[in-house]
Amino acid sequence: MARINSNYRKLAAGYLFPEIARRTETYVQEHPKTKIRKLGIGNTTEPLTATVLEGLHRGVDKLATRETYSGYGDEQGDSRLREKLAEYYKRRNVQLDPKEFFISDGAKPDSGNIQSIFSLDNVVAVQDPAYPVYVDSNVISGRTGEHEPEQGRYKGLLYMPCNEENGFIPSPPREKADIIYLCSPNNPTGAVATHAQLKSFVDYARQQKAVIIYDASYSEYIEDDALPKTIYEVEGAEECAIEINSLSKFAGFTGVRLGWSVVPSALTVEDSRPDELRSMWNRRQSTFFNGASNIVQEGALSVFTEQGLKESSELVEYYMENARIIRRGMQSLGLTAFGGDNAPYIWLKAPNNLSSWEFFDKLLQETGVIGTPGVGFGPGGEGYFRLSAFGHREDIEAAVTTITDNLTL
Ligand SMILES: *Cc1c(COP(=O)(O)O)cnc(C)c1O
Repeated sequence: MARINSNYRKLAAGYLFPEIARRTETYVQEHPKTKIRKLGIGNTTEPLTATVLEGLHRGVDKLATRETYSGYGDEQGDSRLREKLAEYYKRRNVQLDPKEFFISDGAKPDSGNIQSIFSLDNVVAVQDPAYPVYVDSNVISGRTGEHEPEQGRYKGLLYMPCNEENGFIPSPPREKADIIYLCSPNNPTGAVATHAQLKSFVDYARQQKAVIIYDASYSEYIEDDALPKTIYEVEGAEECAIEINSLSKFAGFTGVRLGWSVVPSALTVEDSRPDELRSMWNRRQSTFFNGASNIVQEGALSVFTEQGLKESSELVEYYMENARIIRRGMQSLGLTAFGGDNAPYIWLKAPNNLSSWEFFDKLLQETGVIGTPGVGFGPGGEGYFRLSAFGHREDIEAAVTTITDNLTL
């Protein structure tokens, strides 16, 4: 008799996005003439750049002749791409070996899968609020207890509160944590950890023999050059941190799919042998995954050319101008807005002590604009609201104008 993995039953119902859809649908039925405008989605909208398209076409064409055809590629990903990545990190004075890079189909799969190389009795710490994958992947694997609806928390998970007082970047936990997830620039709060803040986590992890899973998916949105773009800018991080990144937000690869993880040879935890974690991740990936598409890797190679990087940063700049437009608009209304300066998310404080969902309803009723209730990312997001800078400029401008013209405070 087969039995299910009953950890799936612990998952708090995928409540956020279906509930947004339900409330939007009700509103549309009651107000068929009002235009719905979305500022809620973390998905790219602008076309791929010319250089990336050339790379993708080259990848396709290579498959057309016997001489250039390729089947399964290098296990860890195209070695040319891993060399390019190592070179790219050198720009930040970070020395990594191409063999420490693992090419994948994205940062979401890697951030969900990485926990599988660690023991089930590790204590997991997450930022609160957080990108849901870190929590859900550990629930499914059995590293948590039941979900407690009153607190909106899972038993056995350590929540590191992110709030106005700490600028939405927590301090290392006082309790003992073994696996710590950090995301900077942060989705949903838009906060970015400073070098000193990352150092405090690296110090903690080295002392405790803990591991940091560092999601740097928005690193290219950092405009302030003093802020770290990779955790390996902090000395000693290669001993305690795995970094995950992707081209999704950097180069519009959300639908194309390409990411990478860095598992340094120097990484060690309590019971690991030298270089063991890197070979375990290699084993995990070569068992469950057969590599990113060769066409897509060819496109990724084009991102890491001078012209490709220039075009990608223009793409990022486009979304960051959207972020400034949103932030300025919200502030002109007297709302308190965080983020949006080194990240494509604006983290709005709901006015008049409204809850996240109360503000969602108010914004929808008064303006027809949809955002994302902060509480959907964890109990620490209650009273906040996420606005996303991904969208066509004209849609962003129209949504902001609708809000500034119609929202009553
Ligand atoms: C968008 C996003 C990702 C990207 O995932 P991909 O699988 O590479 O598209 C990863 N982490 C966070 C926090 C994100 O917001």
